[in-house]
Amino acid sequence: MSDIAPDAPPVLRFAPSPTGLLHVGNARTALYNALFARQWGGTFILRYDDTDTARSTAEFADAIAQDVAWLGLAPDRVEHQSRRLVRYDEAVARLKALGRLYPAFESEDELEAKRQSRRRRGLPPVYDRAALKLTDAARAALEAEGRRPHWRFRLDGRQVVWDDLVRGRQGVDTATLSDPVLVREDGSYLYTLTSVVDDIDMGVTHVVRGEDHVTNTGVQIEIIEALGGFVPRFGHHNLLVLPSGEGLSKRLGHLSLRALREEGEEALAVASLAVLTGTSLAVEPSASLEALAAKIDFAKISRAPARFDPAELSALTAATLHHLPFEAVADRLAALGVGGSEGFWLAVRGNLARLGEAADWWRVVEGPLEPVTAAEDAAFLAQAAALLPEGEWDQEVYPRWISALKPASGRAGRALFHPLRLALTGCESGPEMKALLPLIGRDRAAARLRGERA
Ligand code: GLU
Repeated sequence: MSDIAPDAPPVLRFAPSPTGLLHVGNARTALYNALFARQWGGTFILRYDDTDTARSTAEFADAIAQDVAWLGLAPDRVEHQSRRLVRYDEAVARLKALGRLYPAFESEDELEAKRQSRRRRGLPPVYDRAALKLTDAARAALEAEGRRPHWRFRLDGRQVVWDDLVRGRQGVDTATLSDPVLVREDGSYLYTLTSVVDDIDMGVTHVVRGEDHVTNTGVQIEIIEALGGFVPRFGHHNLLVLPSGEGLSKRLGHLSLRALREEGEEALAVASLAVLTGTSLAVEPSASLEALAAKIDFAKISRAPARFDPAELSALTAATLHHLPFEAVADRLAALGVGGSEGFWLAVRGNLARLGEAADWWRVVEGPLEPVTAAEDAAFLAQAAALLPEGEWDQEVYPRWISALKPASGRAGRALFHPLRLALTGCESGPEMKALLPLIGRDRAAARLRGERA
């Protein structure tokens, strides 16, 4: 870690809007927050930014909970913005009392006309604050017409600076921005406000999110300061893009975690790739989320977009499986109907591209299996059956058997090994026979060598 060791247990949050399925880019944000909290003994909050009632659904919220659980990021606390409206009412009252929130009446069409006229004059298309100049009488007249105001936060118009966890010193000149709308005509609240109120109330110490939020941060720091809240440390990570360079979209369902799960990708591989891609660290399999958490260093995240290659993910899933300990997969193996214990797992894991393939190897071990035997090998296989060792069937049984069979049959190399593998497993290739043979057992091995289904 660089200079980011927190002084006290940190509080971080992942705050998705439940308006679609999470994609790997969202997973990147969730992982940075959750793993940083875990690494420093802090708190990780899953917060649903669900004030947009038209687009948020309970189904998407459930899917997010499942995806976060699949990644192994159990939240310490779950919050819903839709249940916290009273707190936003209070913050709005406070900002109004401070003179930082003012009513504005322009319709979307009027605002667009203003933007165009400013552009024509070579001016940036920011809001001209005409509403601030309305007299009480003019405001009353608009209200009498039935117009309802939206409410804008009056920015200070200054250079807001912060020491970004990823990007170093950052500044946003709020004089170049429109005063943000915090309350819509219908009284509903915008994310810019609700997020700040929550972060203050929940004692959030670090906000790690995508770099598309840099400008928001300038605005939000002003709002936090107006409300007298603690300004958290901010970090803005680069965004993941597809190999084509296209950005990921929740709406378009790009690389959704659900789809990756259904394709059999390992959660730990997804996590490793999401966290390590686009950093100066090597992309490699992780032994556990803890091991991955220990590597997180925000200063190592690069500024360029991070390309996420699904082809790389499949290779990482395989490489991850090849090293996973039995305890990490025992429950999932049982759910696949694999009755094997640690010895079985250690025998087959190195051959797996997907965990589901363990069930295929379990069927090979347990049978019944149709052995593959060629007529010209029948005598050799009968001889092999006769020479199957007696005594304990451990990892030594296969080398003992081969050292007896080799001189007896006069065979070597492929002519020796290939017919045995075909008869015993029905497959051209697979895990080491030394590990498989004790699992297959003497009776089944003998039967298969005789060409019997066993
Ligand atoms: N709901 C916001 C988003 O998904 C949260 C951004 C933030 O972390 O503040 O972009």
